[in-house]
Amino acid sequence: MLSITPIPAFADNYIWAITNLARSRRAIVVDPGDAAATEQFLQQSGLDLAAILVTHHHADHTGGVVELADRYHAKVYGPKNDLIQGITHPVGEDDEIPELIDGVCKLRVLAVPGHTLDHIAYLGDGFVFCGDTLFAAGCGRLFEGSPAQMHNSLQRLAALPAETRVYCTHEYTLSNLRFALAVEPGHAAVQQRVFDEAEKRDAGLPTLPTTISLERSTNPFLRTGSREVAASAERFSKLSLQDELEVFAALRRWKNDFR
Ligand code: ZN
Ligand code: FE
Repeated sequence: MLSITPIPAFADNYIWAITNLARSRRAIVVDPGDAAATEQFLQQSGLDLAAILVTHHHADHTGGVVELADRYHAKVYGPKNDLIQGITHPVGEDDEIPELIDGVCKLRVLAVPGHTLDHIAYLGDGFVFCGDTLFAAGCGRLFEGSPAQMHNSLQRLAALPAETRVYCTHEYTLSNLRFALAVEPGHAAVQQRVFDEAEKRDAGLPTLPTTISLERSTNPFLRTGSREVAASAERFSKLSLQDELEVFAALRRWKNDFR
């Protein structure tokens, strides 16, 4: 069976490891910002590293790439961006990545610019690795892209099948939910989710993966079509907002300063 395991790194990153132990003792890791944490996991699990997938150029996602690739002679897939060292297989929109280890499906690449311009996501059979684009109950900051780019990228992810499991790179869920609650204080699904996710954190568990359906129902950045979300964004921005993109841009500005 294919399994996807979090390797905690730094304060709140997850490096995701993909394996199918019935078929192979090799692993694929996603966004290994920390070589030591990744290596410790591989050693403890008795695994070899077949390949690395990189979503974007930020150091907390790429810091361990060169060291791990050298040590394990691993293939490295990532955006076509010269800033990232060690990419052996540059990929972009709609590229297909063949089965990298026995028992793990092919992957398809989606371009999801916004957080950075080079940001890509990896779509498998029922799961997606979306880096810092879509978070549980939130989305990445706009460091390089425009609100329109990010809104479009999030819409593409939101259009994936409802049951798709979503593997984000950071454990930001509880703080994102405080913002979601400020945007939609009357929305029962958000209230319920605050309770559910707090319970996981209290038990020391990750809140991830999330699902596209849970994000559609509780993530304000995917709910720009909701009346309450639009009204809150207008109250914050003191503007009358014309469309979902303007609602999205106002929400993103609001979140930047939200404590
Ligand atoms: Zn980032
Ligand atoms: Fe990050």
